[in-house]
Order: sequence, then C-alpha cells, then structure tokens
Amino acid sequence: MLGASNYPDSVMYYLTSLRFDKESSCKFEGRICPLCSSKMDRDHVIKCIHTSAIRTNRHDGIVNAIKKLLNKSRKASSKQLENLLKPDIVMEVNNVKYVIDVTFSVEDVQYSKYLGKKRKYKGDPFTEDTVIPVVVQYNGIISQHSVEDLKIVPEVDIKKLYEAVYYHIALAQVKAEDLTGKLIRKLLD
Ligand SMILES: [Zn+2]
Repeated sequence: MLGASNYPDSVMYYLTSLRFDKESSCKFEGRICPLCSSKMDRDHVIKCIHTSAIRTNRHDGIVNAIKKLLNKSRKASSKQLENLLKPDIVMEVNNVKYVIDVTFSVEDVQYSKYLGKKRKYKGDPFTEDTVIPVVVQYNGIISQHSVEDLKIVPEVDIKKLYEAVYYHIALAQVKAEDLTGKLIRKLLD
C-alpha cells in the first residue's frame, strides 16, 4: 500500500466492501446530518461541509502520487503562474511546459469538467494541448481523455495511478466516517 496510515485495516475493509458490492458502508444512511441538516445518503459523509479538509487531502494525495511517478527530468513543481492561477503540477516534456491538474467530478459532467480545466489554464505559455486535466469520478474512474493525455509522460503507469486513486478515495471515506461518527457522538453527549 502507498504511504503510512493509521487506518490500514479499515481502508482494506472499505476496499473489500466496494469490490464485493456489499451494502452501504454509511452507518448514518437515511438520518438527517446533525452537522449540516441534509438527509444523509451513502456518500454524505464525504460530501458534507465538515469533511472539506479530508477532500483536500484526497486531492493532494493523488497529486503527490502523480509527482512521484514523474521522472526527475520533468522538473515537476506547483508554483503559482503569472496569471495567479495555481495548477497542481507544472512540468516539462522536451523543454515544453505542461500543466497537470487533478479534479473530482460526477460521471455526467466528466467531459465538461475536462474541457473546463483546459480552458482555465490556456494562455501563455500553455495551449489546450499542454494542459492535462486529470478528472476522477467519485467512484475512482479516471476520464479516458485524461488517460490519453497522460501518455505524453509514459513513466506515469496508469495502473499505479489507479492504485493511488483508489487508496486515497478509500482513505478519505474511512476518515470522513470516523470524523462524522465522532462529531455526532459529541453532539449527543
Ligand atoms: Zn452533513
């Protein structure tokens, strides 16, 4: 598994549940969220306002996994651009600068999110061809367009990227459930 974690057993449990399509892992399904007053569906704990830091970590975990897969010669960095945008990764291929930016999306709008990212970073020195949006669905599926774009950096093994994506999705889910349970118990005390 990637990286050290305090949650290895529960992450593996969650992955196994996903793999074998067991019932929802959300212990609070159907209840009203005492933290934001929405009805809780099986994904609520990861969508709720109080788990935003966990969602940021999920995103950053995937960004770091991509950085680790890139060759040193790509000079991957994440500094702010002159137009004040801050892409996840700026890197080089044959002296040409590329942007890699990771985002989560629901299935229906995966392609429009992909195009939106291309547009967002287009402008000196980047063109649509040198912006690589990595659009990940909440279930872990990576956009086929992103997979195609990533072929420019053949060292980024898509199987390894998927391993990181699933790991960070599962880890975030487990942490979100843990935090939600703690916050709800605190409210009930
Ligand atoms: Zn909530």
